Amino acid sequence: MRASVREIFSSVQGEGPYVGIRQIFIRFDGCNLSCRYCDTAWSGAAGHCRVEAVPGRGHLLEVANPLSGQDLLGILQNRFNAGGHHSVSITGGEPLVHAEYLAGLLPAIRQMGLKVYLETNGTLYAQLGRVIGMVDTVAMDIKLPGTAGCGSLWEKHSHFLTIARQAQVFVKIVIDDQSDIGEFKRAVDLVCGLDPSITTVIQPVTKKGRCALSPERGLELQSMALKVLKDVRIIPQAHVMMSQR
Ligand code: SF4
Repeated sequence: MRASVREIFSSVQGEGPYVGIRQIFIRFDGCNLSCRYCDTAWSGAAGHCRVEAVPGRGHLLEVANPLSGQDLLGILQNRFNAGGHHSVSITGGEPLVHAEYLAGLLPAIRQMGLKVYLETNGTLYAQLGRVIGMVDTVAMDIKLPGTAGCGSLWEKHSHFLTIARQAQVFVKIVIDDQSDIGEFKRAVDLVCGLDPSITTVIQPVTKKGRCALSPERGLELQSMALKVLKDVRIIPQAHVMMSQR
């Protein structure tokens, strides 16, 4: 089995409660959604995967797509120092578009002594069920319809979070000053209905390096969520501020 991969590189995690940890990022091609604020065009598969020649140095080599699981493991083993990394971030796009491929790959990544950190838009719950036993941490989005522009995903998010709780999970809600408070509250209630102790991150939309969420609005939303949830944090995209990938 093969999959199209956009990039493999070493950097720091820039979002959520794990911000700052060193990871190997495997950025898969393709996404099942089309969010208004997405910074990548996902139509068409990339002809080449860009692989960092030396971890953290930014110089990229091109490897022809699609990659087999053995191709990908070979790149990890030969070019990246597993011991220097906290985990492998399986990201995209939406990596669960490649669930069957991941089911073959993730056990081998764990055998290298690396944890598996899955970044996902939180909608492909059947595919998550296929791999959840091989994942250590799930970083799950809840998409507000008015902010993401992807329509109503509430039911999918609810099924997804139910399964994701089999691993360590946190939820991320992307917000700007125009986000609908009623939709934010619905997202909070969705999390609360399953487990009020799930860490929930309010992530301001970042436009041209600046947060599109005023400090007052961010604190208002955090206070609202903390009435029912135990751990609510406002965390911007730190990698953007640091000019990291
Ligand atoms: S889910 Fe993520 S990758 Fe997919 S369109 Fe939305 S922001 Fe982009």
